[in-house]
Amino acid sequence: MLKGKVAIITGSTSGIGLGLATALVRAGAHVMLNGLGDADEIEATRSTLEAQGAGPVLYHGANMLKPAEIADLVTTTREKLGAVDILVNNAGIQFVSPIEDFPPEKWDAIIGINLSSAFHSIRAAVPLMKQSGWGRIINMASAHALVASPFKAAYVAAKHGILGLTKTVALEVAAHNITVNAICPGYVRTPLVEKQIPDTAKARGISEEDVIRDVLLAAQPTKKFVTIEQLAGLALFLCSDEGASINGAALPVDGGWTAH
Ligand code: NAD
Repeated sequence: MLKGKVAIITGSTSGIGLGLATALVRAGAHVMLNGLGDADEIEATRSTLEAQGAGPVLYHGANMLKPAEIADLVTTTREKLGAVDILVNNAGIQFVSPIEDFPPEKWDAIIGINLSSAFHSIRAAVPLMKQSGWGRIINMASAHALVASPFKAAYVAAKHGILGLTKTVALEVAAHNITVNAICPGYVRTPLVEKQIPDTAKARGISEEDVIRDVLLAAQPTKKFVTIEQLAGLALFLCSDEGASINGAALPVDGGWTAH
């Protein structure tokens, strides 16, 4: 379906990003991976993925806090894979704390990685997509782009911000066969969520089991975690010809959470 299309997926060494990369590779895309992690493990992931597809899978280690490295991710992809057709802005971090104790450096890091990095990558990729006359930009937002939860000031602010970015760029590029959309997942059991369970327990003074039942899944009427495969399925649809009229949208995949 995506035979020969070139995709960049930020934060694809783990969790949702890795799942999306796998789906895109299996659909025929040539993929540039990105993210943090142990070099040997990343190389093992890269070669395993490459063996599942029909084209190259490469890795670029751009730090999403560094605009020049993000621009280099885009230009290197163009140089080594020939184009940038699909851009998935997925890298993200979380930090949970009451506002009065929220460390300013955590605020800066979350806004940088979860929001500003998407500005820098989109800014660099749009001219290439305009040149080729086709593009798909998918921003991995969150249910927290639509509703808030206490103790997540920076994350909720960044995710609400990325919806504004999504809508604005969608209007600017629509006439060039480029779509820009935001996927808004509920809770997915990835390392990002595993890490916040003890922090949320501490912030609320409850047990970790209570966090899963009463905080995380309490919000989701299905009482089930969203799966990475469900998110990958939506991403593939957005990249397909049938998805071409979905533009500037915030698409919840949250088991009904934001229907409350
Ligand atoms: P994860 O921790 O498994 O993966 C995060 C990825 O981002 C990793 O590859 C990591 O290396 C990368 N990353 C972090 N900091 C980086 C940096 N400075 N530079 C480059 N890469 C960096 O988390 P995940 O749950 O898969 O989250 C992926 C995205 O999905 C995030 O944007 C997150 O906000 C969003 N999301 C997750 C959930 C969930 O429940 N897991 C729900 C809604 C939205």
